[in-house]
Amino acid sequence: MAALGTVVVVGASLAGAHAARGLRQEGFEGRLVLVGAEPHPPYDRPPLSKRFLASGDESLLELPALGQLDELGVECHLGVEATGLDLGRRVVQLGEDRELGFDGLVLATGCAARRLGGVGHLAGVHVLRSLDDARALGADLGGAPRRVVVVGAGFIGLEVAATCRERGLEVTVVDVASAPIEHALGAPMGHALGAPMGHALGAVHRDHGVDLRLATGIEAFEGGDRVERVRFTDGAVLDADVVVVGIGVRPATGWLEGSGLVLDDGVLCDETCLAAPGVVVAGDVARWPNATFGGELMRVEHWEHAVEMGGYAARRLLAGQGAIEPFAPVPWFWSDQYDRKIQLSGRPRSTDEVTLVAGSVEERRFAAMYERDGRVVAVLGVNRPRQVVLGRALVGRRAPTAEALDALAG
Ligand SMILES: Cc1cc2nc3c(=O)[nH]c(=O)nc-3n(C[C@H](O)[C@H](O)[C@H](O)COP(=O)(O)OP(=O)(O)OC[C@H]3O[C@@H](n4cnc5c(N)ncnc54)[C@H](O)[C@@H]3O)c2cc1C
Repeated sequence: MAALGTVVVVGASLAGAHAARGLRQEGFEGRLVLVGAEPHPPYDRPPLSKRFLASGDESLLELPALGQLDELGVECHLGVEATGLDLGRRVVQLGEDRELGFDGLVLATGCAARRLGGVGHLAGVHVLRSLDDARALGADLGGAPRRVVVVGAGFIGLEVAATCRERGLEVTVVDVASAPIEHALGAPMGHALGAPMGHALGAVHRDHGVDLRLATGIEAFEGGDRVERVRFTDGAVLDADVVVVGIGVRPATGWLEGSGLVLDDGVLCDETCLAAPGVVVAGDVARWPNATFGGELMRVEHWEHAVEMGGYAARRLLAGQGAIEPFAPVPWFWSDQYDRKIQLSGRPRSTDEVTLVAGSVEERRFAAMYERDGRVVAVLGVNRPRQVVLGRALVGRRAPTAEALDALAG
């Protein structure tokens, strides 16, 4: 492939910014353009549901490891949405009438929060994906509400529940599933921890006074200008001052419709993140066959994954036709809820065999191993970092169950 003159990165967040940094670190000296729909420079999302929501301190959102993008010679177009891609002419459309030519393209547009359909739009009902979402939610929580209803017992919903309880608010969490984190809408098998572990995580919230209502959905949000009540599908009605909807995300691929790229729960790419010649994909929006898991197609919504895949995508782009190892990580994720650090290595399914390998659910400090076909596929830890780190290495080499049990015990 000819030397790249201009590389355009679409999506100015974790994966896109790390791709831009990676390109410079790998010696790319051409024109580097970063396009982002949000008006903000790249920031860190995990604190949005945790310490930032608790404190409003925006310094928590800095991405210090990244350095200043302008020092990297990156031309930033922030508050600008990419609206189309013409692969033949090698052009990205910006807004209504601008175009940006490229030789190499990084797609890193992440995901957008899913919203509940058919329940109307009332003030006081929030989603949480962006800084603007978190500012709006924080402002509402600062207005002396008492009762918060969280829709969706996935990781984001449970983190919001924990933060709100720590602010002294009454919190109800509702989910259509029969166990917390039993499934993640929009990411089939994404975070399916299975019912026993889901209930173990739910117990942590019940300990802290959360009213956890499972196997029920939302019929309607009711009120005047603002939400005042939530009506559940099981007939119950609850007063609510603030509602947070955390029912999963949708890959931000709408602007790529008709481009010729394969869009199927994300942008489909090969095992080296390549979606078309000179077009690579990184972060939450990418779906690719992970060789470590027998080529299973996966899309991973984790912080570390976005960092690593952004850097890899940069190397992949610069490699051109040259050989490069496939991108085949063992996913790893953390979530902070109260004083518990929940971590997950690997790729569990709700149908996996689950064995408690350390601690106990009763003390809310444990590690559990997930096995499939005689091999370890994931390790979940609650305040058990050692087992999760060990588990990651074991999953990476598809260790047999007996060996993994030995290594993880204690
Ligand atoms: C509240 C919250 C808490 C989290 N907590 C954790 C955690 O504890 N642990 C963990 O491992 N992970 C956590 N995550 C997940 C982690 O933040 C994501 O995996 C990571 O942000 C993904 O990075 P990304 O760059 O792929 O996508 P994103 O961060 O979603 O960024 C994509 C960017 O692309 C922009 N964009 C989209 N479409 C266009 C377009 N057409 N044109 C231009 N720009 C566009 C978007 O506006 C956005 O800025 C959390 C996420 C959230 C929202």
